[in-house]
Amino acid sequence: MKAVRIHQFGGPEVLLYEDVPDPQPRKDQVLVRVRACAVNHLDIFVRQGLPGVNLPHILGSDIAGEIVEVGEYVTNLKAGQRVLLAPMHFCNRCLKCVAGLQNQCRHFTVLGNGVDGGNCEFITVPAVNVIPIPDNLDFNEAASLPLVFVTAWHMLIGRAAIRPGQTVLVLGANSGVGIAAIQIAKMFHTRVIATAGEERKIERARELGADFVINHYQQKISQEVRKITNAEGVDIVIEHVGPATWQESVKSLKPGGTLVTCGATTGPKVELDLRFLFSRQLSLLGSYMGTMSELYEVLGHVFAGRLKAVVDRTFPLQEARAAHEYMEKSQMFGKIVLNW
Ligand SMILES: [Zn+2]
Repeated sequence: MKAVRIHQFGGPEVLLYEDVPDPQPRKDQVLVRVRACAVNHLDIFVRQGLPGVNLPHILGSDIAGEIVEVGEYVTNLKAGQRVLLAPMHFCNRCLKCVAGLQNQCRHFTVLGNGVDGGNCEFITVPAVNVIPIPDNLDFNEAASLPLVFVTAWHMLIGRAAIRPGQTVLVLGANSGVGIAAIQIAKMFHTRVIATAGEERKIERARELGADFVINHYQQKISQEVRKITNAEGVDIVIEHVGPATWQESVKSLKPGGTLVTCGATTGPKVELDLRFLFSRQLSLLGSYMGTMSELYEVLGHVFAGRLKAVVDRTFPLQEARAAHEYMEKSQMFGKIVLNW
């Protein structure tokens, strides 16, 4: 089959479109013909080099396609079904996994990170990863969903315990997590303040339901938050940007507020004034992906039309390099999807 692989870490030029052996499903696995695979910031981090990635490696976490074949032990799925794949790899046996906390499993990793992903024509996965999709959802939309929607759901519901009436600040409205978080926060009847860097993206964030949108290049986020909230601050901040926005995010919290972060797009290190942390009784929470039950829950809302995928642009698999270059320019509003 054809796949996009990396044989070394580096820039977009290390992405090679080449022939690789076809995968063979085990008896408990499903063989899926990949039709679309979304690009995430994770793909860029893996391409640039992360520990635990064995070379050569196939990137791609967010996968949608059709079942080609099911192993002998798989009874709940059949060939021809349109599906998306849960973007996670876990042991499904340990204490955490059987408690439904797959993202705390010692063997947990994301497809396309610690194991090969979906930038290829065929992939084999355990049956537990395979989720049928409704006919009205196309493959590009389906591939745009799992990673960012389960991440945003786990951040807001699993970690920050969002409640109606709260005010939520969502950094980077144009990112996949931002788009999911705005919609989910509105579904919980909260007031949403989002940030974006240009007029076009500000308009799109409003269309998604954001009540206020701050231009994070022209305005100071914490000052605008103070104006909007009558100097109170917000209950929850959804962070994934890192050092570029961290200080402003922490300053935007009300006393007792919660900042939850799932990423470090602009770098891994931030400063923290401990006096501010304890005197204002802030909670700083880490969040990583989500559980299988959270994925099913959030997808249920998408399938019922309450939340929607936002696709910015598609590229053919052969043009994975161009897709990575486009993502690194941060021009998108929504997901970038490779398809074939
Ligand atoms: Zn486990």
